[in-house]
Amino acid sequence: MKTFSYERAESVEHAVEAVKGHPAAKFIAGGSNLLDLMKHEIEAPTHLVDVNHLGLDRIEETPEGGLRIGALVRNSDLAWDPRVRSRYAVLARALLAGASGQLRNRATTAGNLLQRTRCYYFYDPAKPCNKREPGSGCSALEGFNRIHAIVGQSEHCIATHPSDMAIAMRVLDATVETASAEGGRAIPIAEFHRLPGDRPDVDTTLRADELITHVALPPPPPGAQVYRKVRDRASYAFALVSVAAVTEVEDGRIRSARVALGGVAHKPWRKEEAEAGLADQAPRDAAEAADAALLQGAHGHGSNDFKIPLARQTLAAVFSSVEG
Ligand code: SF4
Repeated sequence: MKTFSYERAESVEHAVEAVKGHPAAKFIAGGSNLLDLMKHEIEAPTHLVDVNHLGLDRIEETPEGGLRIGALVRNSDLAWDPRVRSRYAVLARALLAGASGQLRNRATTAGNLLQRTRCYYFYDPAKPCNKREPGSGCSALEGFNRIHAIVGQSEHCIATHPSDMAIAMRVLDATVETASAEGGRAIPIAEFHRLPGDRPDVDTTLRADELITHVALPPPPPGAQVYRKVRDRASYAFALVSVAAVTEVEDGRIRSARVALGGVAHKPWRKEEAEAGLADQAPRDAAEAADAALLQGAHGHGSNDFKIPLARQTLAAVFSSVEG
């Protein structure tokens, strides 16, 4: 690990001032991904600003009937909050499907959104990787790419986003709130994570000097909430494919549906423009329509070809579970 200086921030203002004009500074909270990246020297911040003591560890009701989640709320606390369990079951289930109990006790809401890909080559400094070292190449394209993307990938990177929580937040239309020395902003989660394009080294639209302070959830959408994750073992494994869905069914027909896929792209994968077309269909037909929209243009790279039928089957299973 490279040497770095450390500073404990006592307020949001202190934290954002501490990184101002300091491009190699990083905020640290749970550290469950950043410390690994530092040990592998994939990330080498010269200054760490500890944001664990900013009071951003509460979940508040909003006047609109939603929730405002502090960036430092631990994944376990969020998953077991009674309001999350009763009104945002898709989020509670996604959180509990992620990592292990110990990691969920440590990992924060903001850190979960910011965790980086688990592409094997990204963590192996001996192998070319455009995400780690822009312009060096992508070892996964011709390598072992079992966990890699089938949609939204580019010739420069085929990595996937590893978070379960973010997939649920995507169907819930969450908003990421930030602070910086220049002021704060609210970023819809649809615009928070990026596709790789020709800059796979940039995962999100968050600026280096911006601190996530909260994630806001609007009032829960009507309908049954489902999170289904397919993985190589029953726990402590990232999704090969996951589906987050909120479906409203009446008299055997879909009234409204929101669907996002995880484990298949560089960001949570949702096509809102296709969701209106799912209405008035039987769940089985809606599953086929959702699959056609979400997997349009899908292609594998050899070891991950199986993800296309797996995503199709997982979507079908989710829709059949709400047939009633
Ligand atoms: Fe690096 Fe992305 Fe290629 Fe993995 S898929 S080796 S992260 S460029």
